[in-house]
Amino acid sequence: GMHISRLEANEVSASEVAAHVEKLKQNQHETFETRHRHKDGRMIDVEISASYEPTSGNFVTFCRNISDRKAAEKQITNLAFYDPLTALPNRRLLQDRMSQAVAYNRRYQKNSALLFIDLDDFKSINDTLGHEIGDQLLQQAAQRLQSCMRAGDTIARSGGDEFVAVLQDLGTESSEAAAQAGAAGYKILDVLSQPYHVSGHVCLSSSSIGIAVFGTSQNVLGDLLKQADIAMYEAKKSGGHCLRFFEPEMQASIDSHVALERALQTALDQKEFQLYFQVQVGRNNNPVGAEALIRWNNPERGLVSPAQFIPMAETSEQIVKIGTWVLESACEQLKAWQKDAIACEFTLAINVSAKQFRQTDFVPLVRDAIARHQVDPRLLKLELTESVLLEDIDSSIRSMEELKMIGVQLSLDDFGTGYSSLQYLKHLPIDQIKIDQSFVRDIVKSGSDKAIVRTIVALAKNLNLEAIAEGVETEEQRQSLLNKGCVYFQGYLFGKPMPIENFESAVLCGIPRS
Ligand code: C2E
Ligand code: MG
Ligand code: MG
Repeated sequence: GMHISRLEANEVSASEVAAHVEKLKQNQHETFETRHRHKDGRMIDVEISASYEPTSGNFVTFCRNISDRKAAEKQITNLAFYDPLTALPNRRLLQDRMSQAVAYNRRYQKNSALLFIDLDDFKSINDTLGHEIGDQLLQQAAQRLQSCMRAGDTIARSGGDEFVAVLQDLGTESSEAAAQAGAAGYKILDVLSQPYHVSGHVCLSSSSIGIAVFGTSQNVLGDLLKQADIAMYEAKKSGGHCLRFFEPEMQASIDSHVALERALQTALDQKEFQLYFQVQVGRNNNPVGAEALIRWNNPERGLVSPAQFIPMAETSEQIVKIGTWVLESACEQLKAWQKDAIACEFTLAINVSAKQFRQTDFVPLVRDAIARHQVDPRLLKLELTESVLLEDIDSSIRSMEELKMIGVQLSLDDFGTGYSSLQYLKHLPIDQIKIDQSFVRDIVKSGSDKAIVRTIVALAKNLNLEAIAEGVETEEQRQSLLNKGCVYFQGYLFGKPMPIENFESAVLCGIPRS
């Protein structure tokens, strides 16, 4: 008693229906698949077999519900390509995804990585707690692995307690790809080592990972799996719960990174850090203060530059401890300078890292250090970078205002390399802008660098801020900066960063004392 249109699915367009009608009129008979609405409201797959009777102009249509057949077809595909226990792609689909990755690499000159992941000692879990528990643990492990994947990555179960991940789009350089794959591998090691709660049992497990990075040229897919497998066995040999790269050089570079990280952990206790001091001068090359730059003096590695270890320390809480040490040492130095007729007026600038600045107790820490060492807060200068402040501009401004209440000076380091938004600049309670050395380097030759520096200096003047140029190496650069109104400088022209003894003999001994 209802019109036939009630059966039609909304997603079947009028033009599609019209096309079928047109074909029917031509051929008199048609069979096709479409979707209809069941009387209970859900959508079902149907097969339509229709005839057209030209004399009466009627259509006679048979509709058959083929949902079960469709579901069975889907299940067959699933069985062929997916692992029934974990619902992850199986080895067959994995091969397919690997070929796709190779094709993608060829087209876009990218690298991928294959991670062979094997649970450590899974057999003993199976043996002691039974296969059912073992299966559940595998399912949880599969979910955890999936949560580590980015869009475009594949995680497959290749059998037993073995999983394989294909990570795509890891950059054009294989070293970069190795670093990214390593980071992903460490994340996987971490998530797989968290306790599993299975049917009232708490199980502990870990994993071993072998990594093979692959790019555009090479490789028989089977070879790649073998490489990752070999690397995985290396990881097992080292006791498990670790990862290994197939290529020896990559392994070496990862090892040296890890070794450096490990050495860094004990550097503070071993008193391996040292502050170097680089003089800052005024218009007449008169010293006005210094920037303290940290150095790591490792017995095995020699002097390690902060560019190498600061970013490493920033990935953990270690940077906070290092930063606190720098703050303490700087205050001690200011205290020592109080006794010197010249140096008592020097400012001392220290670099503050993002994580350190974001610590809730950073401001009290500065206040306490200044009070304990009884130094003039105006002589301590904190260098912050734009990126640090922009992370959370409101809370940054709040902290900066509290720091200003203590009386310390604030300087904006590497100015011009970040966003340099004028909008926020006027709200920041800073005292100084440090013109980044990249503009100073070519200031003599480059017209645009000249213009940028002139603009920064004018900006500073209008906002009542001091401008200092860093990385000044030649007299011509100094003259050019002077011409643009910049009167404070730092750079090799006036002195390299050096240990305190050298700094004092170079800076203080040359100055006539009254
Ligand atoms: P920065 O704060 O911008 O420091 C200036 C860098 O330029 C220093 O490198 C300095 O040695 C170098 N430099 C100074 N004059 C010249 C010059 O005339 N020519 C050239 N080419 N370079 C010059 P350094 O000491 O290797 O420090 C690198 C960065 O490491 C610093 O950049 C700073 O961001 C960070 N850093 C250094 N010490 C600390 C610290 O105690 N704590 C934190 N969080 N970061 C630090
Ligand atoms: Mg600095
Ligand atoms: Mg700088």
